[in-house]
Amino acid sequence: MKTIGVLGAGQLGRMLALAGYPLGLRFRFLDPASDSPASLLANHLTFDYADTSALEKFADGLDVVTYEFENVPVDTVRYLEKFVPVYPPAIALEKAQDRFVEKSFFCELGIPTPKFSNGFGNGQTDEIGFPAVLKTRRMGYDGKGQSIVHSQAELVAEKTDDSILEEFISFERELSIIGVRSKSGEIKFYPLVENHHHEGILRLSLVTEDVSSQLQQQAEEYAKAVMNKLNYVGVLTIEFFEKDGQLLANEMAPRVHNSGHWTIEGAVTSQFENHLRAVIDAPLGSTNPLGVCAMVNLVGTIPDVKSILNIEGAHLHLYDKAPRAKRKLGHITFVEKDMKTLQRKLDLIKEIDDVS
Ligand code: AMP
Repeated sequence: MKTIGVLGAGQLGRMLALAGYPLGLRFRFLDPASDSPASLLANHLTFDYADTSALEKFADGLDVVTYEFENVPVDTVRYLEKFVPVYPPAIALEKAQDRFVEKSFFCELGIPTPKFSNGFGNGQTDEIGFPAVLKTRRMGYDGKGQSIVHSQAELVAEKTDDSILEEFISFERELSIIGVRSKSGEIKFYPLVENHHHEGILRLSLVTEDVSSQLQQQAEEYAKAVMNKLNYVGVLTIEFFEKDGQLLANEMAPRVHNSGHWTIEGAVTSQFENHLRAVIDAPLGSTNPLGVCAMVNLVGTIPDVKSILNIEGAHLHLYDKAPRAKRKLGHITFVEKDMKTLQRKLDLIKEIDDVS
């Protein structure tokens, strides 16, 4: 019986545990917040990530440690590595935690990105032009810490020492690729997912038939380059903008991802199970989809549960979180035979939840 330690006890940790129990895995979570979504499911230590004696207590008896959010302090992972293997490797966190480092890493691997710069007012922004997107290099997520600037004056007024400026891309679509690499180097990919955001937060992920094999292959090549370079173990997500048939990498997440929640019911093996298989060095499961799929996030409020469950084929997941504006509280997945039926289900959800 293997016991897996997870840093962070949010909904991603909760879904990892739910996927791991049928495999006979046990879980122990570490998260400073006591009311986290995974805390009802497993042993949960509520210490700060910098508390080294707590980290030793956490690591005691674990077979492997993983994490469910990319802002885990790298020092925490490095410290735990003295006692227990930690996957994905710390280097993946180092690359993903700073947008400038991340985009430079993409460039190093020949992966196209929007033009970007961390040097302001010295001519380096000329190539980017306006409007441009100003983001914090660290800790930004779900559109937090970013704004659109329209002139050099606006840029100078809003920038900080922690800023990165990016070319504004009028993309056709946002897509993400989810890949998984095991300890033995086996790699598998889920189909590219089309993502729709509202106020910077993911609202809808679609697995459609509307993705060419060329685009899929391109995304897989980019993700493979990242995983092999980092000697990666676990699930990795890369988010892209599609523009004129090309993919531009926006960011990567060294963890299971919101745009992969559809895989719980919509793929032969879910991203959560495959992440666990990867970190315990078990063979990876098939990533084949079981139909056309949609995942709708429930953000801020939970619509009437009975009305959701009245829709045939609605798979409802609630994370046991208190409602709060812009907070992800749950999601609904549909797996259908064709797009027409899927669209009908999404229309029914729209009648209940007007932001989805
Ligand atoms: P991020 O926090 O980088 O994932 O950005 C959140 C959302 O803002 C993305 O999903 C896009 O919809 C939008 N966005 C981010 N960067 C850009 C960009 N360079 N050009 C246009 N839209 C962007």
